[in-house]
Amino acid sequence: MGILSVISFAHQLVRSKVREGDVVVDATLGNGNDALFLAQLVGPRGHVYGFDVQEAAIASSLARLEREGVAARCSLLLESHSALPSALPASVQGKVAAIMFNLGYLPGADETVITLPQSTLTALSAAMEMLRSDGLLSIIVYPGHPGGDTEAAAVEAWASALPQPDFQVMCYRSLNRKAEAPYGIFVSKK
Ligand code: SAH
Repeated sequence: MGILSVISFAHQLVRSKVREGDVVVDATLGNGNDALFLAQLVGPRGHVYGFDVQEAAIASSLARLEREGVAARCSLLLESHSALPSALPASVQGKVAAIMFNLGYLPGADETVITLPQSTLTALSAAMEMLRSDGLLSIIVYPGHPGGDTEAAAVEAWASALPQPDFQVMCYRSLNRKAEAPYGIFVSKK
């Protein structure tokens, strides 16, 4: 394969980990791109839990999933992803195959509604507990908007501190685009 964009790279990694019937999470629904991708991967026996704090994001994601005929395998929650542990049924704790975060703001909507370091870090820690062994956490950070650089640095520091014997932590970043370009941080739980 050629060198992939950050989003395509994230999708490729997730695709390699997720099987039909799996439970997965889209922690930042936005317009539902990742939720749709995940719903198609897990198939009718799988399930996608999606989070967003904006009604508009839930509505546009739901419309998208319905149009594609996969809404029945998705639960969309108008809640912060920092509610991750309690918002999911106890039966899926430690069984989630992949969790995707696409941080920042929703393009075309209110650009002041952004993901924030504190709730993001709370959610990321919870996400690690939800993952099954060999599960994947995919995080796309956006250092280009006000506050985005602080959040990207916080996520990077958090990921860098995960103990090496238990987690594989990788960064996928362009070295010759502007420094504000989005990049990917990926964690696999051993
Ligand atoms: N930056 C991406 C899109 C990110 S969308 C791109 O350019 O494609 C990020 C989504 O996260 C938004 O829809 C926003 O409403 C949502 N969000 C913000 N804070 C959140 C939180 N605490 N929990 C869940 N979703 C949140």
